Amino acid sequence: MIEKGLRRFGSNLSELAAEYEERGEDPLPVYRELGAKGLAGLPFDPAYGGGGRPYREYLDLIEELARSWVALAVGIGVHTLVCDAVQRFATEETRRELLPAMLEGERFGAYALTESSSGSDAASLRTRAKRTEGGYAITGRKQFCTRGGEADHLLVMARTGGDGPKGVTAFVVDRLTPGFRPAHPERKMAWRSSPTWELVFENCHVPDERRLRSPWRPWMPAGSGSRPAPSGSPRRPATRRSATFGLSGRRGAARWSRAPSSCSPTWRPASRPAGSSTSTPPA
Ligand SMILES: Cc1cc2nc3c(=O)[nH]c(=O)nc-3n(C[C@H](O)[C@H](O)[C@H](O)COP(=O)(O)OP(=O)(O)OC[C@H]3O[C@@H](n4cnc5c(N)ncnc54)[C@H](O)[C@@H]3O)c2cc1C
Repeated sequence: MIEKGLRRFGSNLSELAAEYEERGEDPLPVYRELGAKGLAGLPFDPAYGGGGRPYREYLDLIEELARSWVALAVGIGVHTLVCDAVQRFATEETRRELLPAMLEGERFGAYALTESSSGSDAASLRTRAKRTEGGYAITGRKQFCTRGGEADHLLVMARTGGDGPKGVTAFVVDRLTPGFRPAHPERKMAWRSSPTWELVFENCHVPDERRLRSPWRPWMPAGSGSRPAPSGSPRRPATRRSATFGLSGRRGAARWSRAPSSCSPTWRPASRPAGSSTSTPPA
């Protein structure tokens, strides 16, 4: 499937890469074409329009793309991180609303975790999400967000509780939401066709449905004390389902799990002592 999908580009992929790199331009038409060939949603559930392929196949795609065009591979990688979080932790309604267009490559995701004062130590992030009527208002700044100005949906990590990773909640924010604006892209020496943005959130209202379920308390939406899990979510203990959206903190960062994301139909997380977690390395 990968070979067939990339055949159209042939050796042109490196040439295209050189042109886009020279211009410092985001290759949206190329992403769309990859999506049309089924390469933007390889390891995801066919029920949402995914390819249902083994995670290994997605890694082969990333490797193959990176051979010719690393910035393109990074863009697909970030998009996959977002789709994975939505498939695993969004409500069924949100999955059905977002995933089909994302997995077909009509819409793309960006991953907004890093801030000016929290990179490796992601769990110390300061962006706040304050409870409002029917949702949350996000205020803060994000840094180094790959395709943050181009993406349709941003996975934004913000603090809803106390210090540390457990005080953080993930939200899906649409690009046209009032209060969100991409401030500026960084001027980079390389990966110039992969725009890296600073993002601003000013009282940006996100409805409850766009808050992802807490990995710490799997059957409760984050920040809630009592609501039921979204329909269809498996009832497994936290230690078996946990994902930290890259928020393992300094100690955790040093112990990055080598396990792939659970969007693999075949991968299962190893059991871990209570309180520990798997983590997705930052993009
Ligand atoms: C091109 C690009 C694209 C990116 N895209 C995204 C994106 O899409 N979304 C997103 O959220 N982020 C993104 N990032 C941010 C990236 O995840 C961070 O740069 C990364 O987490 C490191 O953070 P930092 O730059 O603040 O470095 P720091 O955390 O300040 O680290 C600086 C150095 O100190 C070392 N260090 C850190 N902690 C320790 C420790 N405890 N002990 C010893 N050494 C340590 C690090 O290894 C590193 O060498 C991107 C970054 C780049 C450059």
